[in-house]
Amino acid sequence: MTRTAIVTGGSRGIGAAISIALKNAGYKVAANYAGNDEAAAKFSQETGIPVYKWSVADYDACAAGLSKVEADLGPIDILVNNAGITRDAMFHKMTREQWNEVIGTNLNGVFNMTHPLWSGMRDRRFGRVITISSINGQKGQAGQANYSASKAGDIGFTKALAQEGARAGITVNVICPGYIGTDMVMAVPEKVREAIVAQIPVGRLGEPEEVARCVLFLASDEAGFITGSTITANGGQYLS
Ligand code: NDP
Repeated sequence: MTRTAIVTGGSRGIGAAISIALKNAGYKVAANYAGNDEAAAKFSQETGIPVYKWSVADYDACAAGLSKVEADLGPIDILVNNAGITRDAMFHKMTREQWNEVIGTNLNGVFNMTHPLWSGMRDRRFGRVITISSINGQKGQAGQANYSASKAGDIGFTKALAQEGARAGITVNVICPGYIGTDMVMAVPEKVREAIVAQIPVGRLGEPEEVARCVLFLASDEAGFITGSTITANGGQYLS
């Protein structure tokens, strides 16, 4: 049976590596994205993976977008909640907009995508919900109260939902990457990046493909006994 997967933020960075890894492993894959049409069109042309534009921060857009994907590709078995943003500021300077945008995408977005798919997964007695959190959701990071809160929320969400899904054949897991060399991290000033790498025991940034391999493992039918887990992929930077 060919299973169908959707990856949010699936046309760039870690999400693109996840989409490609799933496709190469034989899954039917749809990649969602938010606004970068040029990157999405290029990605789709190069990989043959269809792309679908909507914001995960908008519940109704998620419900409508997922219906369209399911009409095109069939029922979705595997959801990869990867879309995420940063709006960094020290807390005394953080605006309500910065707080709400990050919570809206990184935490509400996970609800907005998972909720419309949950009943179908329960009815079919199979599902995989895999969310990309962050090392900074585990340890906290100065300048990222919004981001750390959203990513810690993803971990709590996973642990609760895993208990609800277990009897229905749905596993719910979360991956906490450390620093991975994508646009998000390359946007950090070089000096800061060098200081970050100095704190990583393996002495380098991670590769998007290293996160994608964790997703492949959790997505497989064979991973049915693993649920509610937090998998860290951080080069030894934080040992939880
Ligand atoms: P990028 O900034 O490279 O890519 C982010 C992706 O998310 C883009 O495809 C973007 O779409 C999409 N996106 C952003 N907002 C929305 C939205 N509202 N709706 C739908 N899609 C959206 O990020 P990374 O690849 O670096 O990060 C991927 C995930 O991994 C994030 O959740 C991030 O927090 C997490 N992470 C990243 C780490 C890193 O070191 N890079 C470390 C730990 C966790 P578009 O292309 O249209 O802009």
